Amino acid sequence: MTMVDGKICNAATGTKSTSKCYICAATSKHFNKLDYKGEVNVTALVVGISVLHAKIRLFKFILHLTYKLKVKKYRGIKSKEEKDLEDQTKREIQTRLRTETGLLIDMPKSNFGNRNDGNTSRRFFENPTLAAELTGISYKLTYRLKAILEAISSGFEIDPVNYERYASETARLYVKL
Ligand SMILES: [Zn+2]
Repeated sequence: MTMVDGKICNAATGTKSTSKCYICAATSKHFNKLDYKGEVNVTALVVGISVLHAKIRLFKFILHLTYKLKVKKYRGIKSKEEKDLEDQTKREIQTRLRTETGLLIDMPKSNFGNRNDGNTSRRFFENPTLAAELTGISYKLTYRLKAILEAISSGFEIDPVNYERYASETARLYVKL
């Protein structure tokens, strides 16, 4: 198989919960705790990272962060005003992306799924200056995510030490912001 996503990795590694990392068992409770060191399931490393899936998920991640930027809540109880503000932000960003870049996002397709595919993601990260301006997410963070996606899809051998340093710095920047 050349195209796998998280669901396939979970099935292949016997991970029951879809919200758990199939390599280190981290859950969303751990994700922002960068010193969390879960036990690495070495056999799970064989499934690797799906480049296409990483592209789609990082793009989706930026979008959802943007929708919540004003409310600043991920889970937990939201008031009607907060829900409305989130919906309003979502509609605004959809409109701006459509009119200023021609990208249709989070729109259901007539037959299945939605339009957030790898191609949409590639076009979104193509211009990190415009992407950051449209979403309100830091340019530096957007640029770094783009660089990581380009590195893992480049086909070149990646220096693991440099990669880890760059990815860790990016994670710290994200948590700080
Ligand atoms: Zn993990």
